[in-house]
Amino acid sequence: MGTFESLKTKVGKFRLADKTLLLPEMSRAGCALIAGALRGYGINVQVMETYTGLQLGKQFTSGKECFPCQITLGDVLLHLEREKEKLGDTFRPENYVYFMAEAGGPCRFGMYNKLHRIVFDSLDGLSKTRIASITSDDSYALGGLMETGDRAHFRRTAYFAVVLGDVLDRLLWRIRPYERSAGQAEEYFEDSLATMVQAMVRYGRKRRFRRILDTLEEVAKRARDLIDPTIPPKPLIGMVGEIYLRSHRPSNQDLIKLLEGYGAEGVIASIGEWVNYISYDSMQKAAREVAFAIRERNLSGLRKHAGDWVRYRTELTYQYLRLDQVYRRVNKHLPIHADHRISRLERQLDNDRLFSFQVGTEACLSIGGALEYCLHGFDGIVNVFPFTCMPSTMCSAVLKPILDRMQIPYIDSAYDGTFQTNKEAILRTFMYQAAQHQKKRLAEGKLGTGH
Ligand code: SF4
Repeated sequence: MGTFESLKTKVGKFRLADKTLLLPEMSRAGCALIAGALRGYGINVQVMETYTGLQLGKQFTSGKECFPCQITLGDVLLHLEREKEKLGDTFRPENYVYFMAEAGGPCRFGMYNKLHRIVFDSLDGLSKTRIASITSDDSYALGGLMETGDRAHFRRTAYFAVVLGDVLDRLLWRIRPYERSAGQAEEYFEDSLATMVQAMVRYGRKRRFRRILDTLEEVAKRARDLIDPTIPPKPLIGMVGEIYLRSHRPSNQDLIKLLEGYGAEGVIASIGEWVNYISYDSMQKAAREVAFAIRERNLSGLRKHAGDWVRYRTELTYQYLRLDQVYRRVNKHLPIHADHRISRLERQLDNDRLFSFQVGTEACLSIGGALEYCLHGFDGIVNVFPFTCMPSTMCSAVLKPILDRMQIPYIDSAYDGTFQTNKEAILRTFMYQAAQHQKKRLAEGKLGTGH
């Protein structure tokens, strides 16, 4: 079978029933919860150990690819190699489906699963392992991955899982800088994650979200007691950037924990924000198509695009409803950092004529998100991204001069798997500047309103 044929027939929306779905880990909490949701739907899923296969990922790439592409390739190659060792003659590569989503241009995320396909096809046996994919182009429609009746429900359950994962992360980042004794926050996080995964497996498919929220509230109730109230507020650091790198602790060398070690309280832009952005962007595109169809007096086009607009609008409204429910339950017991509303980010960028959402990619979210942090009294911004990442480089070019004028400390933190010898000096200097910013802010009576 030729390469192009293989890309068409072995990358797509295949039925997952009776297969083992291999999920690469991005955010630990989010992936564990999505896996829990999938298990509830009867899908056999394995979240692969991550980053230990990096050498394999590098061995089968040229070095010009995006870093997340190399990491995820290494994860799946090592996982399948281990399965082969474990199962011996009974190993059947066709029994596995590897999951790798994609996004439309202009950056390279649409190419990861194509490159992974080519590598699979070049290896003995793995040409039979198919790659399941969903795309931001149709707002992550599940297509043939699941039975028709389950699709709409699962999409909503998966969104719920993503938001729960975000909130568990935010609880960890809220507690850890102020914990009464070292290690308590991480213990609490692991324990809470296991509890929430169980709840997701049990109630996710039945869509008994209220039961899951009750469990979350029990988890949140325990959080406040872990905080030592005598520790004064620390400089607030907002982290934006490329979604994989900023969420994947091993590849960003656990930057948030490192910053906490130098005196910060940090928060990283959420994964839910990206999902909301995809729905918002699809809705805006449909609105533009509606306007075009009216101008062209194209009645059938008008009907189709108006229908799409209503669908995306409903989806976004539903997502915000769930998101608010989840954050409200936690905030009752311990206020955590709020999530950004996409329309607000766009209005702000448009009004100040800083950047346009129509450029696409994550750059608009990172630029808008960073400015939103600044408006809420944050003391420093970090842009985290894979070395040579295109949207993050745009973000850096736009943010640097603006934050310089606003006198808010800013750094870029790029990663490619190597260790920078001067990283510590950069972070210490940045945190010194952030502490100065906090001192000045407090002297002016401006409280951080991040949470
Ligand atoms: S966002 Fe950056 S890392 Fe991700 S595919 Fe695009 S260029 Fe590569």
